[in-house]
This record gives sequence, C-alpha cells and structure tokens, in this order.
Amino acid sequence: MTPHVMRRIGLLGGMSWQSSVLYYSLINEGIAERLGGVHSADLVMVSVDFAEVEQLQSAGDWYRAGELLAREARALEAAGAELIVLCTNTMHIVAPAIEAAVSIPLLHLADVTARAIGAAGLVRVGLLGTRFTMQQAFYRERVESHDIEVLVPDLDDQAVVHRVIYDELVRGVVSDDSRVEYQQIIQRLVDRGAQGVVLGCTEIELLIGEHHVTVPLFATTRLHARAAVDWALGDNSPHSR
Ligand code: GLU
Repeated sequence: MTPHVMRRIGLLGGMSWQSSVLYYSLINEGIAERLGGVHSADLVMVSVDFAEVEQLQSAGDWYRAGELLAREARALEAAGAELIVLCTNTMHIVAPAIEAAVSIPLLHLADVTARAIGAAGLVRVGLLGTRFTMQQAFYRERVESHDIEVLVPDLDDQAVVHRVIYDELVRGVVSDDSRVEYQQIIQRLVDRGAQGVVLGCTEIELLIGEHHVTVPLFATTRLHARAAVDWALGDNSPHSR
C-alpha cells in the first residue's frame, strides 16, 4: 500500500486548553475523514500555562508574550513540526515574533478566516473576540486586507464579550445566560449590516453555533483545524488557499 504523505502539524496551544482540545479532536477527525481507516494526524503540541499568558496580556507586555511563544514555536520546530498552528486568535498579535523565530510557516488565522468569508461571498462581517482582537489592528486589518469590512460591537457589548471569554469560557463554563447575551450582541451587529459573524476567539464556538443565530458564522477553531488538515495532506503553502 502506498503510504500517504502527511506533514507534521505543530500546535501551539493552551490558550486556553478548552479550545486546544477542540483543535486536537477536529484535526484528527479531519484526517480520519480524508484518509479513512484508522488514520490520525501526525502532530506535535506544546501547551503553555494560560495564567502566564493572561498576565502578560493584561499588563500589555506583548514583547515578553512574543518571546514566550517564539520559544515554544522553536520547540515545535525542533520536534519536527513543519507548520505552526497558533491555537488562539488573540495571540496572533505576536505572530511576527513567532514567524521571525522559526523557519517553518505559521498558518495565520486571520487569513484562513478571511478566505472562508470570501468563499461564502460576504463582504461585511461582525467580529467577536477578546477586547485585544476587537480593538487592535492586527486581526481586523488583516481580514480587511482581503476586501472585507469588519464591524465590532460597541464598547459596552465588547466588555460583555470579553468578560464571558475570560470569566467563563476559558474556565470551561458554558452558560445559557451568556449565550442569550451573545445572541443579542450578534443581532445588533446584523442590524448594523453584518452579513455574517466571525467567532474570533477559539472558545466562542463552545457557546454559540449556527442554530443559535440567523446569519452565517465563521467559527475560527473549526476553520483553522480544517485548513491545517488540508495543508498536512498536500497544499504546499499556508498562504495559497
Ligand atoms: N482563545 C482566545 C482567542 O482565540 C482567547 C484566549 C487568549 O487570549 O489567547 O483569542
């Protein structure tokens, strides 16, 4: 039997582990679907202590956060990874530091998301995520560079979205009350013209799914995992899709 050529994926996870679990399952399920039998992914993973990352985030110390994740990315490369999958939207803030530290590519989540929005034929979407992701340019502008307009919630709604991520979702708490709040925030984005909504934090899809809303959702963990599977099975460039 001809062996399948499968490239080794490097998962940089733990931010938080609640969504890293999802990445691990989705990537293995994706490989099994594509190759059949008992195939599973060839991957290596590092999983950081989220408390350390969260402290650096709230201190705004992106330099040290970048150093930390660059070190972990080097460990993935040393373990034979051929691609870095950074399992969080927010920490793409330090994507340049990671890219500079390794010679393997980073599968940038904003590009993966933008391509999915483009493939769905949408030009204006809402974005939910941590306040770093909603307020800073690193993610929004990268999506916008694909000719997509990005709307973010107003400041009060941003505070709710951010609080639910850090106080609940990264701790594994999934609450009906928070789901209703998210549904209302999504509806306000739709009323402002959003044709779809990016779940731009890897834990949000634990709370909200397509059946909870009236517009298409772009669930970033699912999209990222699928893109990693495609890449592992043969697409040459993480930027070519
Ligand atoms: N997993 C989240 C994200 O995708 C938030 C946790 C973090 O700050 O990394 O942005």
